[in-house]
Amino acid sequence: MPRHTRARIDLDALRSNFRKARQLAPESASMAVVKADGYGHGLEPVARVLAGETDCLAVATVGEAQRLRDAGITTAIVLLEGVHEAADWPVVSALELQPVLHSYHQLAGAEALNGEVPVWIKCNTGMNRLGVAPQEVAAFRQRLETQPGLRVVGLLSHYACADDLPDPMTRRQQACFQRIRDDHPELQVSLANSAAHFHDPAPDCDWTRPGIMLYGGTPLIGTTGPALGLQPVMILESRIIAVRELAAGESVGYGATWVAEADCRMGIVEIGYGDGYPRHAPSGTPVAVAGHRCRLIGRVSMDMIAVDLSQCPEAETGTPVELWGHHVGVDEVAGMAGTISYELLTGVSPRVPRTYL
Ligand code: PLP
Repeated sequence: MPRHTRARIDLDALRSNFRKARQLAPESASMAVVKADGYGHGLEPVARVLAGETDCLAVATVGEAQRLRDAGITTAIVLLEGVHEAADWPVVSALELQPVLHSYHQLAGAEALNGEVPVWIKCNTGMNRLGVAPQEVAAFRQRLETQPGLRVVGLLSHYACADDLPDPMTRRQQACFQRIRDDHPELQVSLANSAAHFHDPAPDCDWTRPGIMLYGGTPLIGTTGPALGLQPVMILESRIIAVRELAAGESVGYGATWVAEADCRMGIVEIGYGDGYPRHAPSGTPVAVAGHRCRLIGRVSMDMIAVDLSQCPEAETGTPVELWGHHVGVDEVAGMAGTISYELLTGVSPRVPRTYL
């Protein structure tokens, strides 16, 4: 019997979420973030849809950009993590990418460029990962501008705490970025991630960089994608492969962590952490069986989970199950598992076929 576990990807929902991002930041151009295999949805199909909508695509690695060009996508591509090897430069040039630079080390190999590569400067406004210190941006820009083959087009920075609306870090970063912008008024600027689309006031930048919101996940703590008007894009589905009656006092699964308080009926679903379903999802995590919200019981195994069928007594072997999508939100499952939808969506393993609607 073929395995029925699959991720259905709703490309209309993706398009609709992109348009929502546009509406929220109508003054800005958009770099749609499709790194990490389109947040797990499949790089090429996602990028093909977004290429028809967005001004630019953003990826993390040269390999991701290469896949986009191999797929015939001609939209502008920003390389968010920039260049790490001298050998990357000819590829960046040939693929017409726009790398984001944060360090003089990244310039090794740029001297051999023939054409002109547009580059962005990553500014550190408080995230303290990558980025040029505010007081060093001018010198870095000058160095880039004396480098034949490079053309500085913009300044970019990234929020650390935009998911938490009241966090004062966001205002500090905005003020810091504003001071940098004021010194370089002719450069384009990009700061807003998905969360910033929901800030008041709306993002004030030439370019937004929406990621998770395109895929229907919430970028804000304490809410869900649908509550923000976003549509789920990935529907992770499976089915019941066995039904079992448990007597009161019997346990289920590894560690015997869940024990039936009363006689009950349970189903085994053919999905587990080997498919990317989170192992840390606890008993009680919602799972929709034939559209009825039931609950996960016991530990998640590599290839299967157990579900209490008391909310869906008609369930039998073969009954469809939704792990996240319309009946159960990916943000809900992420919250139960102590993580974020980004991790769940990007973690769906290659064993799970993606099918496109
Ligand atoms: N910009 C950069 C530099 C990123 O690294 C990311 C994602 O990690 C994004 C934008 C998109 O962020 P989000 O998915 O929160 O919208």
